[in-house]
Amino acid sequence: MLQLLRDLGAQLAWQRDAGLLDTPSQGPLPVASAVAAPVPVRAPPPAAPPPAAPAPVAVAAPPVAEAPAAPPTAPAPTAAPVLPEPVKVTPPAAALAPVAPANFEGRAGALRVIQEEVRACRACGLAAKRTQTVFARGNPEARLCFIGEGPGADEDRTGLPFVGVAGQLLDRIIAAMRLTEDQVYIANIVKCRPPNNRVPYEEEMSACTPFLLRQLEVVKPEVIVALGKTAAGFLLQDKSSMTAMRGRWHSWKGVPVMPTWHPSYVLRVRDDPKSTARAEVWTDMKLVLERLGLPVPSPRG
Ligand code: SF4
Repeated sequence: MLQLLRDLGAQLAWQRDAGLLDTPSQGPLPVASAVAAPVPVRAPPPAAPPPAAPAPVAVAAPPVAEAPAAPPTAPAPTAAPVLPEPVKVTPPAAALAPVAPANFEGRAGALRVIQEEVRACRACGLAAKRTQTVFARGNPEARLCFIGEGPGADEDRTGLPFVGVAGQLLDRIIAAMRLTEDQVYIANIVKCRPPNNRVPYEEEMSACTPFLLRQLEVVKPEVIVALGKTAAGFLLQDKSSMTAMRGRWHSWKGVPVMPTWHPSYVLRVRDDPKSTARAEVWTDMKLVLERLGLPVPSPRG
């Protein structure tokens, strides 16, 4: 009997070693291989950790419903307090700092930066009573710039230069030149309205004209028309009278400048039969058109 049992044991050992008996001894292996199988399938695309996580969740079946809910809500409260930090960095200031046109899409972008600076400016006393700043209107790539003195009441209200009665006359002059607003750029020496439309003080012009100089450097006009003595005096650094300056070419940084009467002055003297201001403005504008190589329309044409 003993011998029989020994023979039977040897037979079983042989079958097991030969792989014919694997049921009991390899019971745990399928579990391990079942776990291992999905891992390589999911692991390559995302990451190794995810597959490991599902295993414990699957084991702890009841908490599964709580487990997914906890992770999403947990990060949210910690992320919220972090947001104010980047806001404190003040991206607007960073955006305003580089004024170089190279940082923007063309001249319009560079002008927008200057305009934002003007909006925030309180560098002189004119800021106190303004409704808003008045930057410019027209085409940032215009060949011709008109530069006036400062905003009046209508401009202060609308935020656009030369929109009042004087502006309407300027528009008629531009139309008589067979040009449109899209072909010119219009700005002023100061961007805030002087009280009672007085002439800006020297210190106000000194504070504000850096904006205008930068505008002109961006627009790069081929010709500038200085409307009135304030604009002509600043651009040309010349205190001569308008009568002495108008009707002939001057230069600002190599750009031809034609001083002419301000539209407000033309309106003021329009009922004076001796005034030649209106005709002189047209004479000056014909010179401008010639300088630009544009046709000069006849007065009735
Ligand atoms: S007039 Fe010019 S310098 Fe003075 S507050 Fe206005 S934008 Fe600034």
